[in-house]
Amino acid sequence: MRIGILTSGGDAPGMNAAIRSIVRVANNHNVEVWGIKYGYKGLINEELIKLDNFIVDDISEKGGTILKTARCLEFMEESGIKKAIRTLKKFNIEGIIVIGGDGSFKGAERLSKSGIRVVGLPGTIDNDLNYTDYCIGFDTTLNTVLDCIGKIKDTDCSHEKTTIVEVMGRYCGDLALYSALAGGGEIISTPERKLDFDMICNQLDKNIRRGKTDNVIIITEKMYPIEELQKYIEGKLKISLRNTVLGFVQRGGSPSAFDRVLASKMGVRAVELLLRGSTEKAIGIRNNKIIHINFNEVNNERMIKEKEYDLLNVLL
Ligand code: ADP
Repeated sequence: MRIGILTSGGDAPGMNAAIRSIVRVANNHNVEVWGIKYGYKGLINEELIKLDNFIVDDISEKGGTILKTARCLEFMEESGIKKAIRTLKKFNIEGIIVIGGDGSFKGAERLSKSGIRVVGLPGTIDNDLNYTDYCIGFDTTLNTVLDCIGKIKDTDCSHEKTTIVEVMGRYCGDLALYSALAGGGEIISTPERKLDFDMICNQLDKNIRRGKTDNVIIITEKMYPIEELQKYIEGKLKISLRNTVLGFVQRGGSPSAFDRVLASKMGVRAVELLLRGSTEKAIGIRNNKIIHINFNEVNNERMIKEKEYDLLNVLL
């Protein structure tokens, strides 16, 4: 049997650990593995390389993805999917493992409707796939965010300043939420629990009045322009603020042990499913157990993590 792997959409630390696990487990079952470069783009353009145990030596500790990743508009069209299938047939690849986020899973589902066996691994720092407690990359990025905020706090404390910190997450507030739960911020606004400018001012004012002169306000990206929020608070409370957009530093770095182990376990399940002849499956982790569900059960509606937000109310 011959299988393929691709990484697609935004890169996430831990993708390489997943690739290593898939290659090693597959080779152990005498299954040949081909790496498809640049996500669906490489599938259309026939950019494939054979992967072996040696190639995946020492890749677990590397951030990013050795297979590269890309966004591919052509794959959203029927003609793109047809080309991808042609490539898979040409290379005698019977099943593929797609490591990516929500968008990549939509592509994977469409591909699986065309008779190719497809299994998906959730690789996204945003943690925006609801069916799984954790996505590969989220833990590493969370630690990066906390590290950056810790550094900001040192200088904020010395100058008695407040900083607004914008973190990634697209339309999911998990990075902001978990950063605040871990002690990274005093005020938090996420797509799931969005605070308006006045609510943020009131909270900050309260903190300052009780003697907390350095504060970190964490906001998820894409909610409001950070400078606008800064100016509003400065005007209303007559204080000066700092702002920091953490940006792409959040994507990089050596994956945490948690992400490496998670990716490795998910990789095992992916190979097992393909060997069993399964298809259209998305792998996840729930209550510390590796699970899989059908692609059509993957639901990207925002779900509010009530327990975590309740805890935040107590902690902040
Ligand atoms: P992520 O997987 O990180 O959410 P994107 O949303 O950018 O990233 O999706 C990655 C790629 O998945 C897209 O560039 C496209 O090739 C493919 N894709 C996304 N949505 C679809 C779709 N509805 N049909 C087919 N392919 C899709």
